[in-house]
Amino acid sequence: MIAFDIIVLGCGGGPSEYNLSSYLLKPCDLPWSDGIIGLEAGSGLGALTHLLMKNPDLFGSRNPEDQIGHWKPYSTAEIFSWIQCYLITHAHLDHVNSLVLAAGSLGGPSRKVYASRQTLQDIESIFSDRLWPNLGSWDDNDENAALIYTELHSNNQYRPITAEVSVLTMPVSHGKDQRNRSYDSTAFFIKHEKSSQEFLFFGDVEPDSIAIKPRTLDVWRLAARKIPHALSNIFIECSWPIGRPDDLLYGHLNPEHLSEELSILATEVVKIQQGDVKEGIESNGARIRKKQRLDPLTTLKGALSNVKVYITHCKEDLRGEYDCPVNQIIAAQVQTLADGLGLGVEIIAVDQGMHIRV
Ligand SMILES: [Zn+2]
Ligand SMILES: [Zn+2]
Repeated sequence: MIAFDIIVLGCGGGPSEYNLSSYLLKPCDLPWSDGIIGLEAGSGLGALTHLLMKNPDLFGSRNPEDQIGHWKPYSTAEIFSWIQCYLITHAHLDHVNSLVLAAGSLGGPSRKVYASRQTLQDIESIFSDRLWPNLGSWDDNDENAALIYTELHSNNQYRPITAEVSVLTMPVSHGKDQRNRSYDSTAFFIKHEKSSQEFLFFGDVEPDSIAIKPRTLDVWRLAARKIPHALSNIFIECSWPIGRPDDLLYGHLNPEHLSEELSILATEVVKIQQGDVKEGIESNGARIRKKQRLDPLTTLKGALSNVKVYITHCKEDLRGEYDCPVNQIIAAQVQTLADGLGLGVEIIAVDQGMHIRV
């Protein structure tokens, strides 16, 4: 069942500013003009202007008022004015660039920026009145602010961000800072309330196997419970092609690690199919999870056969090493590795300008 429309404003991992993580999202049963969620905010008005030159009807057209003129495509500014809130995984510039640059120009009511507290504080540091004018506020009722910082808690609960959409937030690791502290990014379970369908969206993320704080397993465990009845679409980064060594990942995934992560998800799915994950309630009411080991003979064959994985955030091929786009190369590499494991998953390269329905 289709629940959401997504238009990809940008999906690259940099450094080119024209194609940075930025997805415009709406419930499929409503028009774009009823409100857009800006899922990440890397590329913005410039990227949209170029996409509309190639495909003027990307967001539909307006019926002419006189009923005799030509249908008129919506303008970049009109489409951007429909953004009602932002959902941000972390505050690296390639994920917040357009939120900052457009903040003072969009007009209309304040827009909420939903993110973890740390991410919001990082964004706030840009609006310092030095790097950029201060256009944000923590006060819900601050009518002078263009952006309202709104904290999402990682409390295993869905939080409504619009009338139709709610989000469950989980922290994931995205490398470390110079003091060897884990840098947090976010994975969101984004749910269409009316249909109860959801998709999983990762911000930048590194392999659990090399993270100081491995937390992607928690995301896979929750996702496995929802596959395939409520969740069958996963957006995850794979910044580098095959062969990128661990010490040069800089908080990102390569195909070897992504296929390993997908096999961990597949293992969790099989455990649930086999009824191996048993949850109980302790006398104090706390949920406990009894560890079960998979039968070593158990195969992961076809465990993710209902799942589509959309590959995002591929780093640009600046040296021109490949003769086709690097996102296609990386997606094909992930598909080959996943096929070798027999997971049955479908791997899709995300392209700028794509209209994805999930
Ligand atoms: Zn990042
Ligand atoms: Zn990034």
